[in-house]
Amino acid sequence: MELASQIPGTIFDVQGFSVHDGPGARSLIFLKGCTLNCFWCSNPEGIGIKNVPLYYASNCIDCGKCMDNCPVGAIRITREGHFIDRSLCMDCTDHQCVVECYTDALRFSGRKTTVDELYKVIQRDRPFWGSGGGITLTGGEPLFQIDFARAILEKCYDAYIHTAIETCGNVPWKNFEKVIEFLDWIFFDLKQMDTELHKGGTGASNEVITDNVMKLSGKFNGRVIFRLPLIPGFNDSDENFERIAALILKTKWREINILPLHHLGREKYESLGREYKGLSYPIPSKDKLLEVKSVFESKGITCYIGHETPF
Ligand code: SF4
Ligand code: SF4
Repeated sequence: MELASQIPGTIFDVQGFSVHDGPGARSLIFLKGCTLNCFWCSNPEGIGIKNVPLYYASNCIDCGKCMDNCPVGAIRITREGHFIDRSLCMDCTDHQCVVECYTDALRFSGRKTTVDELYKVIQRDRPFWGSGGGITLTGGEPLFQIDFARAILEKCYDAYIHTAIETCGNVPWKNFEKVIEFLDWIFFDLKQMDTELHKGGTGASNEVITDNVMKLSGKFNGRVIFRLPLIPGFNDSDENFERIAALILKTKWREINILPLHHLGREKYESLGREYKGLSYPIPSKDKLLEVKSVFESKGITCYIGHETPF
C-alpha cells in the first residue's frame, strides 16, 4: 500500500502569501484537473490534468529546438508562425520541447509532486503567515485529485494548520466525505441555477453541485462562504440571484462573496492555443455589484464584493 506521504499529485502553482482566500496570510495551492470547463475561467491551465506545454510567442526566437526535439512531430515552425498541434502532443514524460527552450517561450503548465514534497513547501512558508494563517487548496478543482488532497489536508490539520478549499462542488459526494473532517473552511462556488444554462457555460449540469450543498449542510460544521463569479449576460439575472439565495437559505450558512468577471486570464488562453470566450462578456459595473449585494442582503445573507470579505 502506498504511504500517504508518497501519494503523487500534480499542481500548477503555490502562492506563499495570499490574503484573499481565508483568514490571515496563507499558502494558496493550485491543484490541476477540474470537472467543469467554465468559459470565463481565469486559470485555464488548471482545467486539464495533463502537463501540456504553454507557449509565449513574445519570448520565442524561432530557433527550432522544440520542433527538433518533439518525438511525435507536434511542433511546426513555418513562415506563418509557430504551431503546436495539441491533438498530437501527448504530454510526454520528459517534455524535451520545454527543456530545450532556452528563452522560456515554452513552459510547463503543471508539475508533479508528492504529499511530502508539498508539505515541505508549506512548512517553509509557515513562519511567514503570521498568526491565523494556513493553507487553501484551489485549482482547478481541489477535490479532483482526491487522494492527494485528502492526504495533504490531513497532514496539515493534524499539525494545527488552518485548512480551506475553494471548490466548484461538482465532484462525487464521497470526495467531500473523505476531506470534511480535515477542513476548517470551504469556499463553495454557485454559478447558475438553471441546469441548461449551467451546462452551456461550464460543460456540466448543476445537479451534483446543489445536492452536495445540501449534504454538506447536514454534515460539515465549519464555515462555508458561497462564491458567485458574476458574468454579465450569463448569470446576472434576478431569477438566478433569487434561486441562489433560496438554496443558501436552506443551509445553515449565510454568507456569499461576489467575484466580478475580469479578463486577466487572456494571456494564459493564448499560451494554451485556446479561444477565450470570457473576453466577449463585459466586466460588471460597480452599480451592478451593489445591486446584487442588496438583493442578497435583503434576504439576510451577508454579501461581500471581490476581496472585501472579512476573515
Ligand atoms: S525552442 Fe523555444 S525559442 Fe526555440 S522555437 Fe521553440 S519555443 Fe521558440
Ligand atoms: S510535451 Fe512532448 S509531445 Fe508535447 S509538444 Fe512537447 S515534446 Fe512534443
